Amino acid sequence: MVADKPTDTANEQNDKLDVLKSTQTVVKKALDKLGYPDEVYELMKEPVRMMTVRIPVRMDNDKIKIFTGYRAQHNDAVGPTKGGVRFHPNVSEKEVKALSIWMSLKAGIVDLPYGGGKGGIVCDPREMSFRELEGVSRGYVRAISQIVGPTKDIPAPDVFTNSQIMAWMMDEYSRIDEFNNPGFITGKPLVLGGSHGRETATAKGVTICIEEAAKKKGINVEGARVVVQGFGNAGSFLAKFMHDRGAKVIGISDAYGGLHDPDGLDIDYLLDRRDSFGTVTNLFKNTITNEELLELDCDILVPAAIENQITEDNAHNVKATIVVEAANGPTTLDATRILSERGILLVPDVLASSGGVTVSYFEWVQNNQGYYWTEDEVEEKLQKVIVKGFDNVYRTAETRRVDMRLAAYMVGVRKMAEASRFRGWI
Ligand code: NAD
Repeated sequence: MVADKPTDTANEQNDKLDVLKSTQTVVKKALDKLGYPDEVYELMKEPVRMMTVRIPVRMDNDKIKIFTGYRAQHNDAVGPTKGGVRFHPNVSEKEVKALSIWMSLKAGIVDLPYGGGKGGIVCDPREMSFRELEGVSRGYVRAISQIVGPTKDIPAPDVFTNSQIMAWMMDEYSRIDEFNNPGFITGKPLVLGGSHGRETATAKGVTICIEEAAKKKGINVEGARVVVQGFGNAGSFLAKFMHDRGAKVIGISDAYGGLHDPDGLDIDYLLDRRDSFGTVTNLFKNTITNEELLELDCDILVPAAIENQITEDNAHNVKATIVVEAANGPTTLDATRILSERGILLVPDVLASSGGVTVSYFEWVQNNQGYYWTEDEVEEKLQKVIVKGFDNVYRTAETRRVDMRLAAYMVGVRKMAEASRFRGWI
């Protein structure tokens, strides 16, 4: 009995950090609150389709290496599934499943005609050549080609994938399809049918959420003290947008540590010096840890790096008035409860980071109609979509007396549940 105890505790701890389990917990709560029967949860707790593929690639040393990849399609009742492809050594089946559920929720919150999808390949692009990356990208598309396509499932960039990788993938799919098919994938370079504003879309969406949250809390963004964890695609552009709006970005970080200056950091300089993997702190001597960064005295805290950063261990020490989750899953459920009890306004990931999928949707629409919008048109449309999503979630939280995460899940699952019912699935 005595020997069992630490294992139980360790299991409990693992469960708390298990993003799939915690996502399923909130999906269940949201469906219960909305009064849906159990079979709706049974359908939604896992993707309707999950494919695992093995991708052989001839590496630069002339040896063949076999990579493992996944594609999860969470729910296609509303429309084709949509979601990024992640290249990372820690990619797992569980993570891809959870990320596909989040994509369904995001599509529901900002009311896009999609279900959620997600893909991933277990690899480390930091250690691969351009030629090897192209081999993995094309091999992945060949392996999943039967279940993807512009009316089935539309991939996009995610962690460590970019517009070049999308271009290779689009080219491979077009060859298989014997048809130029830009609507197969989003996040492409502009010359191949990409959309203006796609690269900065996630950070723009987060910025709009910060502005809306700041209004609710009576904070003026101009002069507000902002801390951003992560200086990659999402975090660095966000820091720039905040800086341009007159906020004082007093802390930023990457995987190696953080920088802090109570008078505000020189964001343009840091942007100029960061590498393509979002690393900049290695150039400085006086750094702080990521743990210290999250507890800095500030008005707005934006986790924009990885999962499980704000937990029950540090949630009591967060000093921000508003926490806006640009990253997927940075706050555990225990920490969500603690922040909410402390009156901190938490804008959850499925709402805050929905700008990327929204502009991906715009890109797909432009590909389908063959007529392209200006950057201003994209921005104006994005603003409307995110503000509407924010209002809907905030109102639900107030009227149903639930925290913002549960409210976002309630808004996110509803359309999917209704579409599944009308189709006669449940
Ligand atoms: P990225 O790879 O461009 O940047 C990640 C940043 O996080 C880098 O600065 C990296 O150094 C830092 N980082 C890595 N490990 C860390 C650690 N242990 N502690 C602190 N920092 C660490 O990735 P991104 O595209 O900016 O994505 C960041 C987060 O935002 C992810 O959770 C991603 O799923 C989410 N997101 C991104 C987009 C998008 O369009 N880029 C859209 C939706 C959600």
